[in-house]
Amino acid sequence: MTEDSPDLQPATIAVTAGRPPHVSDEPLNTPITMTSTYVAGGDREYGRYGNPTWAAFEEALGALEGGRCLSYASGMAAVSTVLDLVGQGGKVVAPQHSYTGTLLQLADLESRGRITSELVDITDTAAVAAACVDAALVWFESPTNPALEVADIAAIAEAAHDAGAYVVVDNTFATPLLQQPLTMGADIVVHSVTKYLAGHSDVLMGAIVTADDELYGVLKGRRDLLGSTPGTLEAYLALRGLRTLHLRVERAQANATTLVERLREHPAISEVRYPGFGGIVSIVLAGEALAADLLVQKTRLWVHATSLGGVESTFERRRRWKAEPTTIPEGLVRLSVGIEDVEDLWRDLGSALDTLVV
Ligand SMILES: *Cc1c(COP(=O)(O)O)cnc(C)c1O
Repeated sequence: MTEDSPDLQPATIAVTAGRPPHVSDEPLNTPITMTSTYVAGGDREYGRYGNPTWAAFEEALGALEGGRCLSYASGMAAVSTVLDLVGQGGKVVAPQHSYTGTLLQLADLESRGRITSELVDITDTAAVAAACVDAALVWFESPTNPALEVADIAAIAEAAHDAGAYVVVDNTFATPLLQQPLTMGADIVVHSVTKYLAGHSDVLMGAIVTADDELYGVLKGRRDLLGSTPGTLEAYLALRGLRTLHLRVERAQANATTLVERLREHPAISEVRYPGFGGIVSIVLAGEALAADLLVQKTRLWVHATSLGGVESTFERRRRWKAEPTTIPEGLVRLSVGIEDVEDLWRDLGSALDTLVV
């Protein structure tokens, strides 16, 4: 929420936050400010410490999540910045089905003796709470990628705080429109802005949001030193994408809901996973890896590509990646449902699936 308008709805915030004041002859949009330095005497001083275009994006996403936002070069730059809050030898609790980049980063830090980690089934609230007892940081993805499990964030956050641990939620899949982790007890929200927030598969960017001013100061200080800052054009495009976030998420979710009903009836599919909200659906092919590899070659509209959250529908067999946990079925295909016409999407996907029925 913005300070001067505390009761605006998310759709209004997405459209109006991070704009210049209404002054005659001034632009409606925050311009792309290309500069590495500023005239001395103010607060900005140097390009690594701040940029008006980043600041506009940060104002908008901060308002949507209910905290203060910092933007980064990528989602992974934001992830590594947050994991760096853990002291030497501290323990991180994380879902066994987290984003593979996050799992690889945890494994890398652990192999160098920097942290320890415990990977958990986030649907088992009691077991996760028990794992939190000696934790320094508890990491959530909910829904998880690509298993689409959902955690009881509020209950686990309480256990984590009892242990004095930071509670972090990677909110990339849900977006602040479907889930606001800071209101559920999280200290920090992480985003791969690359996905739904930017929303057009043309930008790499990340973000961190917190409502804790001290934590914000620590994180800002680290970003100043590490230089993990976004490009100015990227921040502009991400803010432009954010303007339609509510429409895109609404449409993707409506399309996903329709597709899930039909996918559940299809004989080529043994399992459909959908948490009941959002635009990501995972299906498991009855014909396992071979059927999944065939499916992704047989469509005209659905694009075989990694990543998610764009306007266009994409899908991928996740186990084609060596780093994907072996608890994910070989035949699992993750669908990122786009904003196209749902009947066109179904005709394309359904007829490809029909060829896989034996
Ligand atoms: C893609 C993704 C990331 C990493 O973000 P990049 O922008 O690719 O660096 C982190 N978490 C989740 C859930 C993601 O989907």
